[in-house]
Amino acid sequence: MKPIKPVFERITQQLTAVNEAIQIIAVTKQVGIERTKEAIQAGIIHLGENRPEGLVQKHEVISEPVSWHYIGNLQTRKVKDVINEVDFLHSLDRMSLAQEIQKRANRPVNCFVQVNVSGEESKSGIAPEKTMDFIESLEPFDKINVVGLMTMAPNTADESVIREAFKGLKSLQLQVADKNLSHAPCTECSMGMSNDYLIAAQEGASFVRIGTALVGTESEA
Ligand SMILES: *Cc1c(COP(=O)(O)O)cnc(C)c1O
Repeated sequence: MKPIKPVFERITQQLTAVNEAIQIIAVTKQVGIERTKEAIQAGIIHLGENRPEGLVQKHEVISEPVSWHYIGNLQTRKVKDVINEVDFLHSLDRMSLAQEIQKRANRPVNCFVQVNVSGEESKSGIAPEKTMDFIESLEPFDKINVVGLMTMAPNTADESVIREAFKGLKSLQLQVADKNLSHAPCTECSMGMSNDYLIAAQEGASFVRIGTALVGTESEA
């Protein structure tokens, strides 16, 4: 496997040329503990996992002060396993999940509302036109702080289609932020992965989530 540090430095350079404040989340879902520690050694401070087991397992043995991001679909019954171990949840996409977070969290949780901008049926997330109502309805939940919106790009090699999706998320995020809701400052956009992080940065991402292109994949993980 390629050493992480030079790759991280190159990606950081590319991204900070577009936005100096951008945050890079290393998605470690396909690598083990050793490779995750190498990522931290390389200077990475945000780690992303998409399964409760993966997050809990790594969280237990990694004591460095990193931020933990849960980026995957979260089943309601698994909320209790992870919600008090994460710094950011990127996949708030339904009322039943919000209710369970409210019940299980012991402090306010920074959440991204996941939006299905492309409308692909295989993707989770709230429809763009329903996002504002959903966020407004979260007002009574004092354990939920909507820091931003998250999306996954459509499955296509067509850059212009990907760019449109990111533009759509950014514009929606700004609309929510404009409402000045105390429970939903919504200042952040979580978008961009290995194949499209530069496009996402150009369209206003504040967090990119990079797995394969940064830490790679390990068959045993
Ligand atoms: C796996 C995953 C990523 C990272 O994907 P890569 O293509 O490996 O960079 C980002 N976001 C989510 C939600 C993921 O599940």
